[in-house]
Amino acid sequence: MGETVLVLVLNAGSSSLKFNLFDMGKEVSVAEGNAERIGLGEANLAYTIEGEKRKEAMPLPTHREALEAILERLRSTVLHDTPIHAVGHRVVHGGPKYGDSVLITEEVIRDVEHFAMYAPLHNPANAMGIRTAMAAFPDVPHVAVFDTAFHHNIPDHARTYGIPYELSQKYGIRRYGFHGTSHAYVAARTAILLCRPLRSLRVVTCHIGNGTSICAVDHGKSVDTSMGMTPLQGVIMGTRCGTIDPSVVEMLMEYEHLDYNAITDLLNKKSGLLGISGVSSDFREIELAADAGNDRARLARDLLTYNVRQYIGAYATVLNGVDAITFTAGIGTHSTYVRSKVCSKLSFLGVELDHEANEQGTGERIITTPGSRVVVTVVPTNEELMIARETIR
Ligand code: AMP
Repeated sequence: MGETVLVLVLNAGSSSLKFNLFDMGKEVSVAEGNAERIGLGEANLAYTIEGEKRKEAMPLPTHREALEAILERLRSTVLHDTPIHAVGHRVVHGGPKYGDSVLITEEVIRDVEHFAMYAPLHNPANAMGIRTAMAAFPDVPHVAVFDTAFHHNIPDHARTYGIPYELSQKYGIRRYGFHGTSHAYVAARTAILLCRPLRSLRVVTCHIGNGTSICAVDHGKSVDTSMGMTPLQGVIMGTRCGTIDPSVVEMLMEYEHLDYNAITDLLNKKSGLLGISGVSSDFREIELAADAGNDRARLARDLLTYNVRQYIGAYATVLNGVDAITFTAGIGTHSTYVRSKVCSKLSFLGVELDHEANEQGTGERIITTPGSRVVVTVVPTNEELMIARETIR
């Protein structure tokens, strides 16, 4: 590969390891894939190398074997003897401490482990992924890129919860926000689509996927976002409940005899689109069922679009007006229905959807008419590329 600068991006979950290998000279991905069901008997390793897709089944008892299997395939195809220059790690929660990406030291790993108090489903796996990769690549820089970092400086009035202040301070209880690399990326791409500098724009970014969050981006900076101390708050999601009255939690614990683990499981894994529809957490299945007349699937779909619209309205106020609205992630990028339903009641803001561009176009584009006062864009997100860029920076 000659003088190429290679950055390996890793995203470790509790039983998964996603990877993406970037040639940062050209900013292109040369290989990507995902090991799933690690530690659960037969695991799957799916990957695309130089455009060719492959899927293999094999036992992968821990993340170490998963990383070894990935590296073996990279070395026999694209890497050969070319060294990897750096490894970038996606870390979900940076707690109150990390407002920027950071070169990983033992102290950083311990902090990531400690901030599991805010992200118990994510941070332990992220830390384990870092330890595994540092053992495999002891001589290259490893960088942690936090999902929370972009929102680090949202103002106090947007991040403070109405509980006793001393407790907020004692435990770092506040809004942190997530999907930061995605919001930052799509806001920047939107500015490019508008041919205007990001520092001159008020943008509402809508990351609508399995997890969903909306962000108010004021002249390039996040000033509010819908997720909270954890990724549970805000819009309803695939299986997460989004914002609910906290008293619902007490009531269900009492009447359904649920302990801490059971209620956490219910709110994170059995609620949202899945819980309301009883059909699926997958939006494509919700759309099929709703179109076939399933009332609960329709309700789930309506609630999602209603929640997104509520946040856009709120953030238009937060930003004192809005220049652009951006849709991204699985649902935001692909569902013409969601975009058209959300935009249908934004005419008061000056949104005029171009239905043909919404329905027929593909990829990154503007989907409003030339006369629309607010420009609406679709931008497929690219969190891995952002992590690779941060690693280089
Ligand atoms: P993400 O978390 O960004 O990967 O998004 C996953 C969500 O996007 C799932 O609910 C999918 O059903 C949804 N999705 C993916 N492709 C489509 C599509 N073509 N139309 C509607 N929803 C889609």
